Amino acid sequence: MPMELVDTHCHLDLPVFDADRTSILENCRAGGVNSIVVPGVEAGGWERLLELCAEEQGLYPALGLHPVYIERHSEADLGALELILSTHRPIAIGEIGLDFYIRDLDRRRQQALLEAQLEMARAADLPVILHVRKAHDRMLSILKRVRVRGGIAHAFNGSLQQAAEYAELGFKLGFGGMLTFERSSRLRALAKALPLESIVLETDAPDMTVVQHRGERNSPEYLPYCLAALAEIRNEPVEELARRTTANAREVLRLERWNPVGGRN
Ligand SMILES: [Zn+2]
Repeated sequence: MPMELVDTHCHLDLPVFDADRTSILENCRAGGVNSIVVPGVEAGGWERLLELCAEEQGLYPALGLHPVYIERHSEADLGALELILSTHRPIAIGEIGLDFYIRDLDRRRQQALLEAQLEMARAADLPVILHVRKAHDRMLSILKRVRVRGGIAHAFNGSLQQAAEYAELGFKLGFGGMLTFERSSRLRALAKALPLESIVLETDAPDMTVVQHRGERNSPEYLPYCLAALAEIRNEPVEELARRTTANAREVLRLERWNPVGGRN
């Protein structure tokens, strides 16, 4: 059977892909990357993102308000999110989270925005796609209080202990291009030590590219490089890792529920 991969985090809706999105998708399909999750980051981009996912087979929308763009979001955007969840049924709420790495982002506002979106995810019974930098302990304590049905902590680079706590809360952990860099020794050790049922693959394109395309725009076409790196790090067969990480992604995101036609009622 041919390999089937899920890129669980790719900003394919961004204008940087406008010129060659069609050929990228062709290459993806040819390389086994049949499913791509496209998370939203701000209200202004949701309509376009939904349209793209309705037009192209294998693209799955998540909608959310990203913490890094906290200054662009308003109270009205939260209302708009609640409404669009009921009319369009994305597969997840995301990309949402906490970024304590960037120092001048207001942490209280980030947390309030996150909690409001987690409450919506709980009410709508949707998984969430989390962006977490330098804030895993805070995130975990919030997730223990506001229980959602799980999701993905994307670009994970916390500790093994934190990974176990995410797993307990129904979360998978996203790994991508950083695995292909030998200097990412801490991250590689983590990807080796984790139980396979916790791992999903992602490119985070156009950011965070793979070593084979260092300095270039990242692309979902490169997901097989992330898979190959994971196989090498764990010393496990590529086919087995493809099958298991794809099953993990499908389980946590329930991709089969996305119905662009039926969702528009
Ligand atoms: Zn992202």
